[in-house]
Amino acid sequence: MSKKECPSCAMEIDEKEKECPICQYEFPKTNKINPIVALIIVIAILFMLVYSI
Ligand SMILES: [Zn+2]
Repeated sequence: MSKKECPSCAMEIDEKEKECPICQYEFPKTNKINPIVALIIVIAILFMLVYSI
């Protein structure tokens, strides 16, 4: 079981927790797809630029 440290109260809590059960700190959503989506957007913009010329 992996644990993560709450940046607010420095308590170790379960990795799956979306918010700290002690201080109710809300963890930012871990977005694993984000870099891929960003890459697709960049490629799409490049294609748009190429076809607009
Ligand atoms: Zn906390």
